[in-house]
Amino acid sequence: MTRLKQILSAALAALALAGCTGVPSGGGSGVVVLDIGHCVESPGAATPGRNLEECRFWYKYSYDVKREIERAGYRCTVCNRGNGTGLDAELAAYSRRAGVVHLRRPGRGAERYPSRYHPDRVGSGVVSADYAIYRHAAAAVFLHHNSSGGWTSGASPSIIICNRHNGRPLASAIAAELNANILNHGMPNGGRPCTVQTRYVDADRSASWMNACDDSGIPAAVVEAAFLNNRGHAAFLADDANARRYARAIGRGIVNYLRRPAPRHIRRDENMPDEGSFGYAAESRRLSVPGAKILRR
Ligand SMILES: [Zn+2]
Repeated sequence: MTRLKQILSAALAALALAGCTGVPSGGGSGVVVLDIGHCVESPGAATPGRNLEECRFWYKYSYDVKREIERAGYRCTVCNRGNGTGLDAELAAYSRRAGVVHLRRPGRGAERYPSRYHPDRVGSGVVSADYAIYRHAAAAVFLHHNSSGGWTSGASPSIIICNRHNGRPLASAIAAELNANILNHGMPNGGRPCTVQTRYVDADRSASWMNACDDSGIPAAVVEAAFLNNRGHAAFLADDANARRYARAIGRGIVNYLRRPAPRHIRRDENMPDEGSFGYAAESRRLSVPGAKILRR
């Protein structure tokens, strides 16, 4: 995409986000939204020597995920919550290649704010979920790497996290591709597979952006299958051909999901706590985030 087109596309996205009042639901447009986790202003996890950085990795390889999806005949957009400024020449080139739409809300630290569409949902990085909602996404996949504790060679609990109502079939399809082709097939993990974890957090927790997608009927998954503090994972992903294999496997997983989409759950009443969620209303009443909607019941 040319620079001018990029600016126009970001401006249109910002306008639409600012001007939209209705609550769109997922699936209508068929587009897959891929989100590059974190942003250059706050780049996320890294290896001890910083030769691999989470955000930088996905600026480079989100393109391979996107291509796999497009090759199967689906549309795909890559976004990032950052400003798109402060990219070095290499990152700027990757950004242009993937056509990254910068949402211009990097957030400071773990700044939490409400979703534009579901303002009782509060979390950091909600702007990316709002973008998926605005695009009526068929699926939203948040591209991350994990990290825990110290430098290790052991097996790591590779997971795909998903939203409660809509995400499991999407996350399972991604995990299946990683298990069949990547984990323990070049990327050592002590024989342990990647598992799926439904992450349901209530109104006031940091990953509530997943729930905002759920409310609009959008399956969402966070890829946390690689640990940058794991020597085996880091060595595997530091190799360009392997990194592309990893990205393409995620793309194939998404495509496999799109070919067999599951029925959508859409939140029925925006004034009521999410169906069946324990403690949600109480958490909502404790919200002290500017602009957040407090559920009274
Ligand atoms: Zn991350």
